[in-house]
Amino acid sequence: MKKTCILLRNSSEVWIPEEKADQLAQALLDGTAPRFVKLTDAGNRMINTADIVEFLSQEQMDDKARIKNGEWQCDQGGWHSKKQKCDCASMAMQKVRDREDEERKKELSKERTPAEQARINKRLNQMREDLAKRLGWASKKK
Ligand SMILES: [Zn+2]
Repeated sequence: MKKTCILLRNSSEVWIPEEKADQLAQALLDGTAPRFVKLTDAGNRMINTADIVEFLSQEQMDDKARIKNGEWQCDQGGWHSKKQKCDCASMAMQKVRDREDEERKKELSKERTPAEQARINKRLNQMREDLAKRLGWASKKK
């Protein structure tokens, strides 16, 4: 089950099921949330809804922890340590290049097998002959 973290003003984190957090968030948006809520999924903890600072998903909490540890996120969405330079774009480019190389090699190896080429030529000739025969037969029938 997915959980959401309710971050309180005193920096304490309360984790409750995502669904219930969404309901509470909606009530706060609508202005219908009570002043206090009892969180049955968090040890019946009573919290003052006015003390809620943020609702955060697990991923957002992980990101927060990374930033706290001095990591940073680049435009490509990769995480890097403080001193590390981002090489995500060149890595992605290299991957594409590698794949192209591999495909080119495959194509080349296909052309390079003389036995295979001979087999293809033979099959093409046969198809041509068959077609000629069939056409000849068809025209005779007309
Ligand atoms: Zn990067």
